[in-house]
Amino acid sequence: MKTLEEYIALAAESHGHICPGQILGIRMAIFGLRSIGVDDPVKARKRLLTFVEIDRCATDAVSLVTGCRLGKRSLKYLDYGKVAATFVDLETGRAVRVAARDDARAKAKAMFPAMADAAQAQLEAYKVMENDDLFNLQAVRVKLKPEDLPGRPRSRVTCAQCGEGVNDGRERRVGDRVLCRSCAGERYYEVVATGGEDSGFRIQDPGHKEGPKRVS
Ligand SMILES: [Zn+2]
Ligand SMILES: [Zn+2]
Repeated sequence: MKTLEEYIALAAESHGHICPGQILGIRMAIFGLRSIGVDDPVKARKRLLTFVEIDRCATDAVSLVTGCRLGKRSLKYLDYGKVAATFVDLETGRAVRVAARDDARAKAKAMFPAMADAAQAQLEAYKVMENDDLFNLQAVRVKLKPEDLPGRPRSRVTCAQCGEGVNDGRERRVGDRVLCRSCAGERYYEVVATGGEDSGFRIQDPGHKEGPKRVS
């Protein structure tokens, strides 16, 4: 395991900036890994699996420290909107869930009252606060299906409707047809045009006056 400062330098590079969320994510991962007895995430990378519960700053840092990545199927993203992560050692079955405490932010802000920049004060506090003040830790058991594990795809079928391939049992059976989730009614997009560059296909403005709304 690298030191906090080493991870901070790496995180600044890969995430693009350093922020309180990065510090929290780094510390969360170090705490989680140590709690399941993993001291060298690089050596243990083939047996580590991490679930993250939010798609914000802390997640990049968790991925950096654990080495778990979406493209390797060792990072699982669950859209729960919580700064929390579960660290699993596939070999021993040991797993812990680490969640950021809601009161950690207030505690952090009170720690360096002389600092003018509130975010900087929070960041510095996150570096030195006790794990118990930052996080709640739970020992957990995670049921993993073979089709969720890293490694070669367990299966591949072709959707009877769109013809696209579907890996690892993500297909749906509708009547006697095997469909992808989109064709089975779980489509998250709307097709506005189909074609390729050769057919002169150009992406048209779909006609929305406003883009997606930002919530600040
Ligand atoms: Zn950030
Ligand atoms: Zn389909």
